[in-house]
Amino acid sequence: MLDRNINLFCKRFYGTWEQDEDKISFWDEVRFVLQTLPMKRDYKIDSEKQEEKYKLPNPESAAKYFVPCSLCWRSVYRLPLEKYTPLCHLHDIPSTFPEYRKRKRLKKHVEILKLKLIKSLPPLTDVKRKLGTEPSDYVKSLCLNSEYLPHLAKYLCSLSLPLNSNKEILEALEHPIYLNKIGAFKAQAWKYYLDDKAKHFLENYLKILAAEAWLRAEAEHKHGGKRR
Ligand SMILES: [Zn+2]
Repeated sequence: MLDRNINLFCKRFYGTWEQDEDKISFWDEVRFVLQTLPMKRDYKIDSEKQEEKYKLPNPESAAKYFVPCSLCWRSVYRLPLEKYTPLCHLHDIPSTFPEYRKRKRLKKHVEILKLKLIKSLPPLTDVKRKLGTEPSDYVKSLCLNSEYLPHLAKYLCSLSLPLNSNKEILEALEHPIYLNKIGAFKAQAWKYYLDDKAKHFLENYLKILAAEAWLRAEAEHKHGGKRR
């Protein structure tokens, strides 16, 4: 998928856009692809530097290193430069387990569904002009919009958790988090992370689309639908 997107990027970069909307949606896709690339911290560096980077001065800086779970949309606390596959509380299971294998297979389909969702929704840069809504309010409203993201809206409502504020929606998206069982440092890092993402709600956009894509892929799998 990445190769195809890079090819597309090169062709489009040297080409021209017929209308502004094409350009905007193209850059939305580029941003999406860039976010899926490995982070600089995932590359090998010499061990001395590595050790230095492992020292976290406080939970606030630890909050910057959260990454998505490899098998769903939830966030995972991670030390900088940690190499193992990030897995959330629900999916921290051996890779030989059927559930792990099933989700790993579903993942390819999830990536396709995510791209489809990006294309079907108005580009964030266009939301204010087209819908007259602030982009962060729009992203928040998407979570509970059964027309745009039906699987996510249904899932969030099924949790019976409060969904009034940014923070409450975010906590429901990340549910379950066991702050009292993970140690004070991690719990503090989680609190900083949630506060920060609730304040900058726009930054949850891809997580929200990933949640819809995962829930849809799961539902299709359950009903014997598309398996890729
Ligand atoms: Zn997970």
